[in-house]
Amino acid sequence: MKKDVVKKVKLQTLDLSSIDGDGSFPCPHCGTLISPDDETEEFYTIVDTKVVGDELAELVIRCGTCGTVTALTGFEHVMANPPNS
Ligand SMILES: [Zn+2]
Repeated sequence: MKKDVVKKVKLQTLDLSSIDGDGSFPCPHCGTLISPDDETEEFYTIVDTKVVGDELAELVIRCGTCGTVTALTGFEHVMANPPNS
């Protein structure tokens, strides 16, 4: 019988095109505001990035407060539709 390997880390997925603003979002678990534009990485750590062609397709980050890992998608939409337009 095949045993599935279950990762202990919960992976949340967030589509940036479904939220308003500049791409910042509250951690789905603890509510800490995470902004991918914040280069200090004080509140999060970048775990992985996925690039398709020359565009960022997915950004996987870990919340620095609770450790929840969130995969951000929908960058194409954000870049095509600037929030302040
Ligand atoms: Zn968190």
